[in-house]
Amino acid sequence: MSDDVAIRVRGLRKTYGGSVAVAGLDLDVHRGEVFALLGPNGAGKTTTVEILEGYRGRDAGEVRVLDVDPADPTRDWRGRVGIVFQGTGEFDELSVAEVVHHFAGFYRDADDPDKVIERVGLTAKAGARTHTLSGGQKRRLDVALGIVGRPELLFLDEPTTGFDPEARREFWELIRDLAAAGTTIVLTTHYLDEAEALADRVGVIAGGQLVETAAPHQLGNRQEALATVSWRTPDGTLDSAQSAAPTALVAELAARFGGEVPGLTVSRPTLEDIYLTMIGHR
Ligand code: ATP
Repeated sequence: MSDDVAIRVRGLRKTYGGSVAVAGLDLDVHRGEVFALLGPNGAGKTTTVEILEGYRGRDAGEVRVLDVDPADPTRDWRGRVGIVFQGTGEFDELSVAEVVHHFAGFYRDADDPDKVIERVGLTAKAGARTHTLSGGQKRRLDVALGIVGRPELLFLDEPTTGFDPEARREFWELIRDLAAAGTTIVLTTHYLDEAEALADRVGVIAGGQLVETAAPHQLGNRQEALATVSWRTPDGTLDSAQSAAPTALVAELAARFGGEVPGLTVSRPTLEDIYLTMIGHR
């Protein structure tokens, strides 16, 4: 495995009873990139990620994560891989600071727990018992526990579910900081805007296979998608046309209207439009 590959998967298969959850999946994640896995419910994201994390066995396929087969993990490898579990952040009577300090003790080269608490925005809650935290604050604690070991590779499963918009933005900043510091990040999400905001590349899983991998702006040939130009006609009705050359069409409309075009909009498919078309076609 070359130095710039963090994850390499070939022909991954997993079945539960008779039903196929992962059906021959191939995936490469480069070191230092933020990779988002998108896919509808039941597509196989969690199964795939849990296999990569070493928490689930596989039926077939080759898997290397930081050059180790996760089916045969070493203690050193576990220390290099951070996992943000959903809903670990509740430890009854323990305080936030106690939990993070405790987890830091599991790692040979842990980060300063108080700095980690600050990074996830929980300093004001450091002395609070974890069962008194709000849902979003518990998720921040989940993240703190995932990063306190200074992982080279961090897995996040639907990290911002239940966050308010401000908390999401703050969380995105945290992910960007971690990525800027060189951490490789694999996240699953149902939020297209999150994938677009954070990911260097997006992998779309459907039916247990990776159906496309691309930078968010290139997914489904989005760049080449036709633009929709809309405007109001003199009688007030809305008219529109699809065009590969919207600038020329707008110039032509401007000439036709002798200046300002009433109600003019120019739009291209959003990542969500492209994604829904992609999974809808399957
Ligand atoms: P979601 O977006 O809903 O979290 P997902 O993409 O993470 O979905 P998985 O949880 O990997 O999907 O599930 C893939 C398929 O495997 C589904 O059909 C699911 O019902 C099935 N499955 C997952 N875990 C198990 C299990 N422990 N036992 C039996 N079937 C399972």
